[in-house]
Amino acid sequence: MRPSKPALIVVFFGLLFAAQSLVSQELNSTFARDPGQPIDKQYTDQIHKYTTAPSFISPLVDYLPASKTVPTPAKVLGDSSGAPDMLPYAEDVHRYFRLLEAATPRVKVFPIGHTEEGREMIAAAIADSALLSRAKENDARLAQLADPRTIGLDDAKARPLLDQSWPVYYITGTIHSPETGAPTALMELAYRLAVDDAPYIKYIRSHMIVLITPVVEVDGRDRMVDLYKWHKAHPGQDWPRLLYWGHYVAHDNNRDAMGMTLDLTRNVLDAYVSWHAQVLHDLHESVPFLYDNTVGDGPYNAWVDPILADEWAELGSNNVAQMRSFGMPGVFTHGDFDTWSPGYLMFLAAMHNGISRLYETFGNGGADTEKRILRPEDYSRTWYRQNPPLPVVTWSQRDNNNYEQTALLSTLSYFSRNTHHFLENFYLKSKRAVEKPTLEGPSAYVIPADAASANRQIELLKVLKRQHVEVEQLTNEITATVPEQKRGEKPKQETFAAGSVVIRMDQPYSRIADALLDRQFWAAGDPQKHPYDDTGWSFAHLFNVKVVRVIDPSVLQAKMTPLDDPSSLAGKISGSGTVLAVANTGQISLLSLIYKLKNATIRITERPFDADGKHFAAGSLLITRAPEDYIAQTVHDLGLDASRLAAEPSVVMHQVNAPRIAFMHTWLSTQAEGWWRYAFDSAGVPFDYISTQAVANQTDLRAKYDVIVFAPVGRASALEILNGIPVWNNAMPWQKTDLTPNLGTPDRSDDIRPGLGYDGLARLKTFVEQGGLLITCEDTAQFAIETGLAPGVSVAPHDDVRVVGSVLNTVLVSPNHPVAFGYGAAGIPVMSASGMVFNVSNMLGRAGGRVLMDPLTDPLDPYTKRATGRGSVDDGDEPQGRKIAEPEPLIRQQPWEARPLDEEQTRNNPQVIPVESRPDVILRFADAKSLLLDGLLDKPGSIAEHAVVVDAHLGQGNVLLFGNNPIYRGETIGTYPLVFNAILSYGHLAHESHPSSPANSASAGSQE
Ligand SMILES: [Zn+2]
Repeated sequence: MRPSKPALIVVFFGLLFAAQSLVSQELNSTFARDPGQPIDKQYTDQIHKYTTAPSFISPLVDYLPASKTVPTPAKVLGDSSGAPDMLPYAEDVHRYFRLLEAATPRVKVFPIGHTEEGREMIAAAIADSALLSRAKENDARLAQLADPRTIGLDDAKARPLLDQSWPVYYITGTIHSPETGAPTALMELAYRLAVDDAPYIKYIRSHMIVLITPVVEVDGRDRMVDLYKWHKAHPGQDWPRLLYWGHYVAHDNNRDAMGMTLDLTRNVLDAYVSWHAQVLHDLHESVPFLYDNTVGDGPYNAWVDPILADEWAELGSNNVAQMRSFGMPGVFTHGDFDTWSPGYLMFLAAMHNGISRLYETFGNGGADTEKRILRPEDYSRTWYRQNPPLPVVTWSQRDNNNYEQTALLSTLSYFSRNTHHFLENFYLKSKRAVEKPTLEGPSAYVIPADAASANRQIELLKVLKRQHVEVEQLTNEITATVPEQKRGEKPKQETFAAGSVVIRMDQPYSRIADALLDRQFWAAGDPQKHPYDDTGWSFAHLFNVKVVRVIDPSVLQAKMTPLDDPSSLAGKISGSGTVLAVANTGQISLLSLIYKLKNATIRITERPFDADGKHFAAGSLLITRAPEDYIAQTVHDLGLDASRLAAEPSVVMHQVNAPRIAFMHTWLSTQAEGWWRYAFDSAGVPFDYISTQAVANQTDLRAKYDVIVFAPVGRASALEILNGIPVWNNAMPWQKTDLTPNLGTPDRSDDIRPGLGYDGLARLKTFVEQGGLLITCEDTAQFAIETGLAPGVSVAPHDDVRVVGSVLNTVLVSPNHPVAFGYGAAGIPVMSASGMVFNVSNMLGRAGGRVLMDPLTDPLDPYTKRATGRGSVDDGDEPQGRKIAEPEPLIRQQPWEARPLDEEQTRNNPQVIPVESRPDVILRFADAKSLLLDGLLDKPGSIAEHAVVVDAHLGQGNVLLFGNNPIYRGETIGTYPLVFNAILSYGHLAHESHPSSPANSASAGSQE
C-alpha cells in the first residue's frame, strides 16, 4: 500500500466520524514535512539503513530535521535512535532530555521522584515556549476543570477555562524492562516535537503539552542494559533472563495501580495528577506489530465513565486507521485484552478522570536485529486485523521505534486538533465523578471506628491517600440507612460512631475509591473466557476491614473533618502499670514489634484473657522492660494500640525471641516472592535473602535460622525448583562487574543455572525435622508436598473449577492454632489465583489403601454414606430374616478433614501417620453457596469446604502450606498476619488438636 490514499481515508472517516471528515483531510495533508527545513542527512541515512522493510516506516519518521542548536539523540547514543546492538542506560536517556532542555525553551525537565534503589525518574514537558512559560496559569485552569467543585460545578464558568486551556498528554516508556525500544523512540520523538517545523508538529506544540517519562522502571532498565552488554560481549552464548527488574517486582510493576505499593507507580500518578493531565499513554512491547490495546475487548471496568469508553474507541480507531493509511502492516486495536481490572499503570488515568492508553509494539528484548517467526494466532487475519502482521520478518529495534513514533505522532496530531473536545470530556468526567452521589451513587463509603481493625484501616487509608482520595472523619455519631446485604432483606439503620472514616463520593477522584471498595462480579457465562488478570479485588475484603457502602445522601450532611494522617487512628497507650499489653487483633505489625524491642522481654499469650476492662485474644503480646521513651514512638509508628497493666495476667504464655528468618528464592523467577520481600521490608521484619543454591551449600541451616520463607516462584514445578535451569550450555552469571555494574543485586550468583538440588532438599528437610518452620505457598507448597516435606497433605484435584484471581470466603477450622491468632470468629477473605486447595490424610500413600468397591457416597450429599434399602437417609438398613447386626457408626467426614481410621485400617499399617504428626487444617474454603466474595467462580464443587491453609508436621518442625497467596501485590493486608503469626510462634506450632474431631470444628470461631 502506498503511503497516501486520501480518498480511502475520507471514506473511512466518513463512516466513523462523519463530523470530522474535513479535519481528517486537513490532518493528512499536514503530515507533509516543511520543505524549507533542512534534514540531518547522516541521521536520516541511518534511519533507512536500520529499517528492515519499506512498509515498516512512514513519512512521519523517514527523515530527521536538522537543527543548528538542538542536539539529536546521536549526541548521546553515538548513532540514531533504534540503532542495532546498543541500548542506553536510563541516566544517558535522562542526560539527553537535559541536553534538550539546555538547548531549547521548548523542553523542560522535571524530576518526579526516585525508585527503591534511589535512581531518579524524570518527566519532560514539550511545547512551544509560549505554552511552557505560561504552564503555571494553564495548570491553574486545568486544576479547576479537574476539580469542578472549585467552580461550583458551573458549566458557564467551565467554558472560558476550556477555551483558554491546552491539555497535557503524558507518555510513559519501558515500565517493562525487557521491552527495550521506548527510551530511544521517545528521545527521538522529543527531538522531533521540539525541532520539526512540519505544520502538523507545529500545531501539536502550539496546542498541547506533551509530557514524557522515557523510562518508568529505571532500576530495571539499567539492569537490562547490563545484561544486554554481557550478551554482546559473549556472542553465541545463552544470556540470563532479566531476573530482577525493579528492586522487588518484575512484570507485575504493571499491576500496582490499585495497591500503589511501588515508588514508580506513586511517582507516575503524582506527576499525572500534579500536571492535571488528560491522557496516560504507556508503551509496551510484546504483540506484533502495533496493538493499540486501548479498545481491547470486554468486559470493560464497571466503574469507568462511559465517556472514557467512547474516547478509547475514538482514539483507537483513528490511530489504527491512520497507521494503516501509511501502509504499515499489523496495526490493530481490538484484541485479547479486557479492561476489567484497574491494576495497570495506564489505568491510573482511567480511574482519575483521564484517558488510559497502551501500545503493544513488537520488540526483540534487546537491540539485536532478528529473524522473527510469528505464530498463526499472531499473523492470521481477523475482523479487527484486516492487514495482519507478516508471518516471518527480519525485525530491528529501529522498526520498533518507527512504529512507536509514527503511532504517537499521528495520535498526538489527532489530539491536538481536538483539544477542546478532550478537555470538555475531562471536565465532564471530573464533574460526574463529583456528582456520583446524585447520579449512580453511592453517597459514601463509611469505615466504622473500630480499635480492633484500626491497624488495617490505616493501611487501607494509606492506599486511598496515595490514590489522591480525600478521607474524612465524623465529628459526631450519625445514623444512616444502609441497603440490604442480600436480596429480599430490608434496608436497615446503622449508627456510625464519631471518629468513623468517611470516603465521600462527591469528590473528583471518587471513581478509584469506588472501584477499590466496591465488590466485583464476573459472570460465569461472560463471553470473555480468558480474563486478562484478576477478576476480583475488593479492598474491603482483602484488607479485612469493614467498609459500608452508603447510598443514603444524608451521610454527606454529617459534620466531618479531613483526616490528614491516617496513622492517628492507632498508636495510643492507655492505663498505667509496668506490663504493656498489645491485643492481637490481626495487625500486620505485631511481628515487627518483636524486632523493634529487642532488649525488652516479650511473651505471647496462648489463650485469651481479660484485663483492665478489655478482652485480649490469644496471641496477644505482654511486654516488660521496654525503654519507656522508645516504646510510645514505636507503637505509634507501627499503628498499634497498647494497654499498661499492673501485673502480668495468669494465662498460658511463652517468651518470644526475634525469630531468625531466611528468605529463600530461586533463580527461575523472582516476581511473586518480590511482593513478599516488599511486605517484610516495609513491615521492618529483617531476614537473610538467600537462594536455593545457598541452601544447597549450607550445612547447618537450623543453627542459623528458625524460619525459612519459600514464597511462590510462579508456576514452577518441583523438578524445576530442584534442577534449576539446564546446565547443557554456558554458565550464566548474575554479578556486579565493570561490564555489568547494576547486576549482582539483590542477590548474586556466579552461575544462576543450578537449582536447589537433592543436597539442598535434604538440608531443607533436616532444617524442618530439627524444629524449623518452612513457609510455602502455591507452587512451593506443591513442591513441599511432592518432595515429602508435608506428610498427609496432597493438592486436591480442582481442574473443573473456574477461579481467576478471585476473592473467596473461608472458615477458620482451628481457631486456637497460633496461625489463626487475632482473627476472631468471622471468615477471612483470601485471594485465590486458581482455586488451589488441599486434601489431608492420616495415612501416607494413597489415602485408605486399595478400594475394593465403589464407596457409598450419595452424589447429592457427599457426606452421607448408606446403601439402598429400608428407612430414611439417617437410618441403617436391616437385611430380612436375621437379627439386626449393628455396624460401626459411620463418622461424617467433612471435605476439609482427614478420613478417620478404624482398627481395621490401622492394624499393622506402617503408612499411618502418628497422631502428633498429622496435618492441622487452619483455614478452609466456605461452602459453595457462600464461597464467592468477588470476581469469577464457576463450578466450585471441587474446592468448596476444602482445606486452604494447612500446617504439616515433620520431625520437630513444621511446614506451613498456603493454597491462597496471603501476600499478593500489596493488596492482601488482611492475610499478612497468617504469615507473621506463624513466624511469631514458629516453635509452638506442634500438633495440638485433632482436626477431624466434629466437636472441634463445631467450636470454630467461638474463640472470642
Ligand atoms: Zn509490557
